[in-house]
Amino acid sequence: MIKAKGFAAISPKSPLESFQFERRNLRDNDVHIEIQYCGVCHSDIHQVRDEWGPGIFPMVPGHEIVGRVLAVGAQVTKFKIGDLAGVGCMVDACLDCPSCKEGLEQYCENGFVGTYNGKEKDGTGTTHGGYSNSIVTREEFCLTISSNLNLAAVSPLLCAGITTYSPLKHWKVSKGQKVGVIGFGGLGHMAVKLAHAMEAHVVVFTTSPSKAADALRLGAHEVVISKDMTQMKNHTNSFDFILDTVSAPHDYNIYLTLLRRDGNMVLVGLPDKPPELYPGALIMGRRKLGGSLIGGIKETQEMLDFCAKHNIVSDIELIPIQKINEAYERMIKGDVKYRFVIDMKSL
Ligand code: NAP
Ligand code: ZN
Repeated sequence: MIKAKGFAAISPKSPLESFQFERRNLRDNDVHIEIQYCGVCHSDIHQVRDEWGPGIFPMVPGHEIVGRVLAVGAQVTKFKIGDLAGVGCMVDACLDCPSCKEGLEQYCENGFVGTYNGKEKDGTGTTHGGYSNSIVTREEFCLTISSNLNLAAVSPLLCAGITTYSPLKHWKVSKGQKVGVIGFGGLGHMAVKLAHAMEAHVVVFTTSPSKAADALRLGAHEVVISKDMTQMKNHTNSFDFILDTVSAPHDYNIYLTLLRRDGNMVLVGLPDKPPELYPGALIMGRRKLGGSLIGGIKETQEMLDFCAKHNIVSDIELIPIQKINEAYERMIKGDVKYRFVIDMKSL
């Protein structure tokens, strides 16, 4: 086994702390990556705090991983020692069911294996994520990273980037469409950059007036303070598409009424409590409410290439790993500009 160190939550009630553990020895199709940066996703907080149900502890979170290849198994062809590589939210899936065969491993009908808080398919144990010095991952789940972009700022693309890119593509957001983004945090600010690059007219809904100037600077054409009902009502019946990235319970109905006839609202934010839904908000105008989970590996590579072409990275605040608990508290207050990324040199 390969010795590893990182930060883990020992139980759902405990803050993260220094933790020693092991990675498996390389199999023929494995890549061993020295982790340089790992982004901090709100899903990390939901999971270490058991907000989505009981997790597996100790838990080393982190699924926005970038670094350099340290070693490769005998049959690896896509990577060689020294290459940049990334790992996102998944490290395994059956690769055989209809969803996997369509490149939609996130919807694997036999269940994908999460990068952390997951169980290895062969029963060898629990997966541990990127708040650590290295990871061993099968080649099919490793992504190729461009050396032209700031590596720390690329790491959030592995979750925040793909989670917002995938629904924008699936629902065919295109030039001139009016697109709303609810919540201007890690996912929200990526959605704005990506929808802007797809030439949509982008409107940000935020509860934080202090973020308005940044939203406009990062690609929004308009900003609506969502607590101001007059501003909200000015947009009734006008959106082609709305992406909801909010991490806490909130009202969906008001946003549904902002969709035009046949418009789509898609949820990626996953609060711990169910919303109240008024059917009338959907029925009037034949509106649709959907959801979307990260994105497949092929699409993640497509998104990384799209970002390299359009010079898109995340706006980040680089932190030493010792500040992770403080970063969580700030994220819960909406105080992040706009993604924390851990500099693994601090480990
Ligand atoms: P984040 O950086 O903390 O951003 C969430 C934003 O939501 C905040 O910045 C804030 O934006 C807004 N917000 C927070 N509390 C709110 C409240 N009470 N009412 C209204 N707005 C509120 O989180 P993130 O990392 O972007 O993740 C967002 C959500 O997506 C999480 O639930 C996460 O688990 C989920 N997620 C889903 C997927 C998927 O595959 N579907 C993948 C990754 C993450 P403003 O200050 O602008 O209002
Ligand atoms: Zn995530």
